Amino acid sequence: MRLVGVRDVALELGADRAGGRGVGFVPTMGFLHEGHLALIRRARRENDRVVVSVFVNRLQFGASEDFEHYPRDLARDAELAAGEGADYLFAPSAEEMYPRGELATRVEVGRIGEVVEGRFRPGHFSGVATVCVKLFNIVRPRRAYFGQKDAQQLAVIRQVVDDLGVPVEIVACPTVREADGLAMSSRNHYLDGPSRRAAAALPRALFAAREQALAGERAAKALRECVRRCLAEEPGLRLQYVEVVDPDSFEPIHTIGGRATIALAALVETTRLIDNVDIDVGTGPPA
Ligand code: AMP
Repeated sequence: MRLVGVRDVALELGADRAGGRGVGFVPTMGFLHEGHLALIRRARRENDRVVVSVFVNRLQFGASEDFEHYPRDLARDAELAAGEGADYLFAPSAEEMYPRGELATRVEVGRIGEVVEGRFRPGHFSGVATVCVKLFNIVRPRRAYFGQKDAQQLAVIRQVVDDLGVPVEIVACPTVREADGLAMSSRNHYLDGPSRRAAAALPRALFAAREQALAGERAAKALRECVRRCLAEEPGLRLQYVEVVDPDSFEPIHTIGGRATIALAALVETTRLIDNVDIDVGTGPPA
């Protein structure tokens, strides 16, 4: 595996893009964990060349968020990515990505960027979309791999690729969880013993709501209540939102008739965690 910057990755991949099974791309912010590695493994199976990027993108962090403190360990990331057979670790510097300091051009994502997670993180999804389009233009992959863990991000990227005709296939990969259900995240690193235990209530609450839906509950309000009830028992946790939404638009659903995503965000001490589950009750009447 080679560690490359903007110029190298473009040059190195030139010959690899044409023909064959193409280039698979896994964009990350580093501090890799099993969730990232699952994306890399899938990319390895489906492509001739695999590029993993590590870039902590300050455009997607709010002023009061953890950009400065976000965990970083490039040497460890390189070892893990190489272990999964990645060909290139693309770790551009901020100067390479933003040579003039600020980007004058931004990708606007409209309403999907303002709802659910977007209400709490104004500008976040525009920052994500902008850096992803820039990374796609540099790497020019055939396929790019994203986790369901960040379901709204996935929906935003699909919208951007669709709206702007970006020539990349977006591949969604299931959320990888710890043994107790907690979705893997680089931010779990911030959690100590008690807050780590409190965090495990989040997937339990989501799974309970999914069970209710599969048992016949169709009212989004009841599913949200179910999540709230489960989390009320956990004093170390402060729920910011729980929403039942359409998985593509992230618009609220009131009565479930087919696919839906239950998404939440919560603060565990000072660590902000997000999680979600997908449900599909089909289109028929409740079982
Ligand atoms: P991040 O480094 O957090 O920006 O994540 C990079 C990519 O890995 C995104 O597409 C995430 O959705 C995905 N990802 C992060 N955590 C998980 C997880 N637990 N399971 C599956 N994918 C994940």
